[in-house]
Amino acid sequence: MKQLSTTIFTTMSALAQQHQAINLGQGFPDFAADSALLDAAYAAMQAGHNQYAPMIGTLPLRQTISALVNRHYGFVADVDKHITITAGASEALFCAILAITEPQDELIILEPAYDLYRPAIINAGGRPVAVNLHLNDKQEFVVDWAAVEAAVTSKTRAIIVNTPNNPTGNTFTADDLVELERIAEHYDVWVISDEVYEHMVFDGALHQSALRRPALAARTIHVASFGKTLHVTGWKIGYTIAPERLTQAIRAVHQFNTFTVATPLQLGIAQYLNAHPNITDELPAFYQTKRDAFRQGLAMTGLRLLPCQGTYFQLVDYGDLSSFSKMSDVEFAVHLTREVGVAAIPLSPFYGVPLPQQTLVRFCFAKEEQTLVAALDKLCSGL
Ligand code: PMP
Ligand code: GLN
Repeated sequence: MKQLSTTIFTTMSALAQQHQAINLGQGFPDFAADSALLDAAYAAMQAGHNQYAPMIGTLPLRQTISALVNRHYGFVADVDKHITITAGASEALFCAILAITEPQDELIILEPAYDLYRPAIINAGGRPVAVNLHLNDKQEFVVDWAAVEAAVTSKTRAIIVNTPNNPTGNTFTADDLVELERIAEHYDVWVISDEVYEHMVFDGALHQSALRRPALAARTIHVASFGKTLHVTGWKIGYTIAPERLTQAIRAVHQFNTFTVATPLQLGIAQYLNAHPNITDELPAFYQTKRDAFRQGLAMTGLRLLPCQGTYFQLVDYGDLSSFSKMSDVEFAVHLTREVGVAAIPLSPFYGVPLPQQTLVRFCFAKEEQTLVAALDKLCSGL
C-alpha cells in the first residue's frame, strides 16, 4: 500500500476548506436530499430496523432495484440470484474486481479512469492495462475499440467501462455497446460496467446500459449507486447486478468485507423509490438545467469547454489562457483553489501515466444555483 497516496478528491477538498474556496472539486451535491427520503429512513429506524440486514441486502431494496432496471433497461434481475447491496459503488467495484481476478490477470481500463479501478486491480493481484480514450474532433473522449481489442491478451480477465464517464462527461452510444459485446464475447472476458451516473444523461439521449443487451449482460457486473441518483453520497448504498455465478463470487468477498450495509438506509430508499417511482426520470432535466447555466457562465471566463453529455462534471481546458497555459493541471487546480477561490480536480490523477501537456481540469456542477453563480463570479474576475 506504500505506493498509494491520498486521493485527489480528499486532497482538493481539504485545500478548498483551508482556503475557504467554493468546492467544485470532489463530486457531491451541496443541496439537501428530498425530505421524504430522509423521513423514510428515519421511519425505518423508528420501526426498529436497526440490526444487520441480510448479507445480500434487504429484500425490499432488491425488489425495488429489480423493478428499476426492468423499467429503464428491460432487464429481468432475479432478486435472490443477481442483486447484491454494497457500501456504495466503491465496495461493489472492489468486490467485483476481487471476485474475478487471479494473480497476474490483466484488467483493461480506459483512461482517464475513475481513480479506484487501478489500486483495486493491483490489490487483487492483477495488472491494470490502460487504453487511452481518444479525443475526437468534436473534443469528445471516445473509446477506440480497435485499441481495446489490440490490448486484449490471453491473460485479459475483464474490461472495465464507465458510462456516463467520470471525469470526461462522455457517454456511450448504442454502437459502443455493440463493440464492447463483440470483443467481450470473442475473447471470452468479463465486463465491469460502472454506471453510477446512469440517470444523468442529457439532450434526450438514452443511457446505454450494458443491461440493455442480453448477451452483454450475461457477462457483465453492473455497478450502480443511490448516492448520485438520490443526492445522498454519504449514505454509501450501492449494488451489483451480475449473472448468478459472478454474484456468488461477489458475495463471497462482500460477506467478509462489510458483510452487510446500513439496514434503515436500505429500507428508506426502497420505501421512497416505491412511493416516487418517477424520480429517476426527472434527474436528467434537473441536472441539464444546471449544466446549461454553468456552461453559459463558463463561456465568459476564457476557459474552453469540452462537451458534457452526462454526469455532473464539466471539463475545461485552460490551455488558451496564456498566463496559465504553462502550468501543470495540478498547479492550475491549486492556483484556482488558493488564489481564485474555486476548487477543481486536475485530470492527471485519472491516468496511470499522465499525458504530457494536457491542460484540463474538472468542475462539479451538482450545486445550488447561487453556489455556481458565486463560483462563476470568482472565475470571471480571477482568471
Ligand atoms: N464510480 C465512479 C465513476 C464514481 O464517480 C464514484 C464516486 N463518486 C464511484 C464509482 C463510487 O461511488 P460511491 O460513492 O457510491 O461509492
Ligand atoms: N466520485 C467522486 C468524484 O469523482 C469522489 C469520491 C471520492 O471522494 N472518492 O469526485
